[in-house]
Amino acid sequence: MGEVDIFKIMKEAEKRKKIKEKPILVKKVEIKEILPCLTTPGYIRFTAQADREIADVIPIIFLMFPPGKTNYSVKENTLTLRAFNRMITFFPNGKIAVTNTRDKQEAEEILQKIIDIINEAYRSYLKYGKPSKETIEAAAKLSWMDIYNSLPKTNCGECGYQTCSAFAVSLLQGETKLSKCKPLKGEYFKNLERLKQKIGEIMLNTLGWE
Ligand code: SF4
Repeated sequence: MGEVDIFKIMKEAEKRKKIKEKPILVKKVEIKEILPCLTTPGYIRFTAQADREIADVIPIIFLMFPPGKTNYSVKENTLTLRAFNRMITFFPNGKIAVTNTRDKQEAEEILQKIIDIINEAYRSYLKYGKPSKETIEAAAKLSWMDIYNSLPKTNCGECGYQTCSAFAVSLLQGETKLSKCKPLKGEYFKNLERLKQKIGEIMLNTLGWE
């Protein structure tokens, strides 16, 4: 029998304890209906129900993803997210609709990822509080042009893109990080401050400001 690695055991116990201590909003999401997927033959779409309402965290989930991957209705407080190669729609009462899924087993795996997203948003909610209406509306309207207007517009190429406009378009889709524009850390820092005031800290982090 091999030697017992006591440090490894202690480390794993500590890790489990930390996970246990993290505040969570949703413990369980139950599949309610399975139907044929409308876009991929042989695949399913399904609806599921969380064990809690998620109205307060939907705006934060919206802020946690690049604007090019989301469609958020401020009025209805519903959010459709393009993630894991499918569309996921969140409703305030805890209903969740998911498309393009292979089978029930994959549905359960996706639901676990969705629970993680909801609970991460919940911890952000506890840390930063509810985002203001103005922040949400500004983030919902954010276009590549808004981002472009915050960039130095010198087309220096340091970010790996030939132009600032190409960088802004990719940033909106979550394909690059804002921090790759090094000049923003120097003489153009004021532009960044203005953008932060407009869209808030969570969205600025989502855009990859480190
Ligand atoms: S590093 Fe910044 S200023 Fe230079 S091209 Fe990229 S976005 Fe424009």
